[in-house]
Amino acid sequence: MTDNYKVELSIVLPVLNEQDNLQPLYDEITSALSGGGSYEIIYIDDGSTDDSIAVLSTIQASDPKVRVICFRRNFGQTAALSAGFKHARGRIIIPMDADGQNDPADIPRLVQKLESGFDIVSGWRRRRHDNVVTRTFPSRVANWVIARITGVRLHDFGCTLKAYRADSLKPIRLYGEMHRFIPALASWGGERVAEMVVNHRPRTRGEAKYGLSRTFKVILDLMTIKFLASFSTKPIYVFGGLGVVSFLGSFLSSLGLLYFKYLASPMIPLNRNPLLILSMMLFTTAIQFILMGLLAEILVRTYHESQGREIYLIDRVLQSGDQD
Ligand code: UDP
Ligand code: MG
Repeated sequence: MTDNYKVELSIVLPVLNEQDNLQPLYDEITSALSGGGSYEIIYIDDGSTDDSIAVLSTIQASDPKVRVICFRRNFGQTAALSAGFKHARGRIIIPMDADGQNDPADIPRLVQKLESGFDIVSGWRRRRHDNVVTRTFPSRVANWVIARITGVRLHDFGCTLKAYRADSLKPIRLYGEMHRFIPALASWGGERVAEMVVNHRPRTRGEAKYGLSRTFKVILDLMTIKFLASFSTKPIYVFGGLGVVSFLGSFLSSLGLLYFKYLASPMIPLNRNPLLILSMMLFTTAIQFILMGLLAEILVRTYHESQGREIYLIDRVLQSGDQD
């Protein structure tokens, strides 16, 4: 698995309408990396409608270390990063924003930290230069929630600038806005994750692509990964559990019905008692939950067995001789 990497470092940059930022950032990256080991720079153009592609092709023509992947349309930052990771040929992969907000001067320090015994080093924009109302404050709250729920203690999941060992990164599949959850997913898989304060600069050219709405997407993604991580091999525990709770509720409200009909005075006939509706609804819900759980069990088996996916990850096997 290791040692068939072509270069030491792959820098991966998703680009959406960043025409004026590309050349200055490229100059910064090359000067930060000159004197170090071998590297490549991969740009993914995510359906830009300005002159980004023209600028990128000029850069590419002058430097064989540069590769440019152009999407047919806008697929989003996570998709762009995912394509970059797939095409990266480096032993270490470093994604960063193409708008110049991340500082290439941080790259050598990130690599150094990674080499000191980690699989992922995540950047922390301690002094962040973004709009406070729509970005910085919601992101603080979101980061706090993510850290609590995932159990991975990072301050800044959203920072694109991170350093990954390719071996840790390549097996991870990304959907939605999930690139920010890579450290959490990896850490659940047993990888060692560290954090490092990085420089963050205000955007001087071009427009920010996101607003407040991203925070909601991030929270939904968080629910998804947490659910998948905790229950993807045993969904009936979740749905069946909810089913049992609904069933108990239905049973209790049926008892209430009987009490009001036979023991209370004045008695309330069944058809005049709202508990009847409650108990019927809870009963139906209970059956739905349990059936959903059983269906999910079938899906989980299809998922794991069709792709030969195991429900565990093995780090290494200690054995002597050839004991296949
Ligand atoms: N980006 C992208 N596709 C998108 C949105 C953004 O490739 O659909 C890129 C964008 O060009 C930039 C990076 O992702 O290089 C981060 O975007 P932005 O600076 O707007 O986000 P922020 O820094 O505010 O998180
Ligand atoms: Mg930015």
